[in-house]
Amino acid sequence: MTRHIFVTGGVVSSLGKGLTSASIGMLLERRGLTVRMQKLDPYINVDPGTMSPYQHGEVYVLDDGAETDLDLGHYERFTSSPLNRDSNYTTGQIYQTVIEKERRGEYLGGTVQVVPHITDEIKRCIRKLAVPGVDVVITELGGTVGDIEGLPFLEAIRQIPLDVGKENCLFVHLTLVPYLKAAREAKTKPTQHSVQQLREIGIQPDILICRTERPIGREHTDKIALFCNVEKRAVIEEVDKEFSIYEVPLGLVEHGLDELIVEKLSLSAAPLELDDYHDLIHRIRNPRHEVTIAVVGKYIDHRDAYKSIYESLDHAGFQHSTRIIVKRVEAEELERQDTDALLNGVDGVLVPGGFGMRGVDGKIQAVRWARENRVPYFGICLGMQCAVVEFARNVMHLDDANSSEFAADTQHPVICLLEEQQGIDEKGGTMRLGAQRCLLAEGSRSAMAYGTLDISERHRHRYEFNPDYREQFIHAGMVPVGTSPDGTLVEVVEIPDHPWFVAVQYHPEFRSQPNHPHPLFAGFIEAALKLRSERPRQLV
Ligand code: GLN
Repeated sequence: MTRHIFVTGGVVSSLGKGLTSASIGMLLERRGLTVRMQKLDPYINVDPGTMSPYQHGEVYVLDDGAETDLDLGHYERFTSSPLNRDSNYTTGQIYQTVIEKERRGEYLGGTVQVVPHITDEIKRCIRKLAVPGVDVVITELGGTVGDIEGLPFLEAIRQIPLDVGKENCLFVHLTLVPYLKAAREAKTKPTQHSVQQLREIGIQPDILICRTERPIGREHTDKIALFCNVEKRAVIEEVDKEFSIYEVPLGLVEHGLDELIVEKLSLSAAPLELDDYHDLIHRIRNPRHEVTIAVVGKYIDHRDAYKSIYESLDHAGFQHSTRIIVKRVEAEELERQDTDALLNGVDGVLVPGGFGMRGVDGKIQAVRWARENRVPYFGICLGMQCAVVEFARNVMHLDDANSSEFAADTQHPVICLLEEQQGIDEKGGTMRLGAQRCLLAEGSRSAMAYGTLDISERHRHRYEFNPDYREQFIHAGMVPVGTSPDGTLVEVVEIPDHPWFVAVQYHPEFRSQPNHPHPLFAGFIEAALKLRSERPRQLV
């Protein structure tokens, strides 16, 4: 019988529910259990693909092309649970399915209602993951308890124990215990209130995880236990981690969370295996080198807009015992200020994906600076397209070269709309999405980094390298070294006569884990380290 763990959040948003859910998943896997991870998002968008990164942070793409919430990135970085479309549902998707059924006449004669029709559909989406061989399904509920839009989801998870047995379900509630400096005290009242709200709905949490800035101690957790009707040992504090998010699982183990879950769900689990993980944390805490990487983007002041990029840089750093200092450069700043002044001293430049014209000229200047100064350059998706445009303009002297995304009437559309995209008007879920095979050229930097010529990576784009210019680029020194298996789409370009200039049409940042950094990120950081070591020491 598959067990269910539901993770809800209270008091405030951005508590790190995704991280905590992912950590629980990781700990259970390391106890030999098979886990599936899932996120339910109460907003009405069918998926986050149409939302601005300002609204929702990065859009995380899965192998099957699903555009999902960025918490799924945490799931993939912490666990080996395979994710697909069933791993992320929104209110929009749930309603869409129910309304389509209604139109087909499947409820003929009936009144279609939130309870039971919407809630049944939510339950179906959760239960879908509970297949033979899966020990635990972890379902994280987005938003905060008390949100109006979250109610149908809470009602659905309240009902699941009635369907599958109380003993097979566990409710984990994550809350905030703020520390009031003036009172010199941790405050438990907001936690009490949010649990009260849950209990009004009919959900009694089994485990409370209390996020705190500083340890709160037994006195407070015992008080929370009493007021919230939770066992004392099941009130666990999760203190902010100083070094890295990858320490979160270890903090939970210290408080016995894995054992508690195993016991409460009567799971037959193996002893916890964490040796290699302790090694990883040791490397994270004790870096021997340091490099500075400029990430040049449009949403640079938003913490989560390039989440997987920052994580992947860190992973590569872990491998090389290197602390990565990210210099976040607002692309438009490069248009206003001297490029040299902004980028001087960085050991690598990365331009991530993006959409729209704003900041593109700044990104192109960053590419030019890295190319001319022989500083390692890593272009991802739009960052690859900018590299192609820059090269066309400044090396091939095609002065008005551009992407047709930004100048439909350019004489030299070196980046143009994918053929399969012609005539597509709808915006949601219509890009070239998900995992695609790509073949690399022998001897290329990419092939050496991957250690294989046959790779698969995730995509999310509408535009591509224009094949009409292929020979001209090769002649001028920018070489397409990775293509779709039929040779038609260019997926990777490199400048062989540069210390490290690799630009990819896909998103390698969705395939990196702390213990298995993505080979291109690892190669990029290695090149940055090399540059740093060759540089004359700068006077401080
Ligand atoms: N806007 C570009 C395109 O659609 C790049 C997309 C991206 O960077 N994800 O092709």
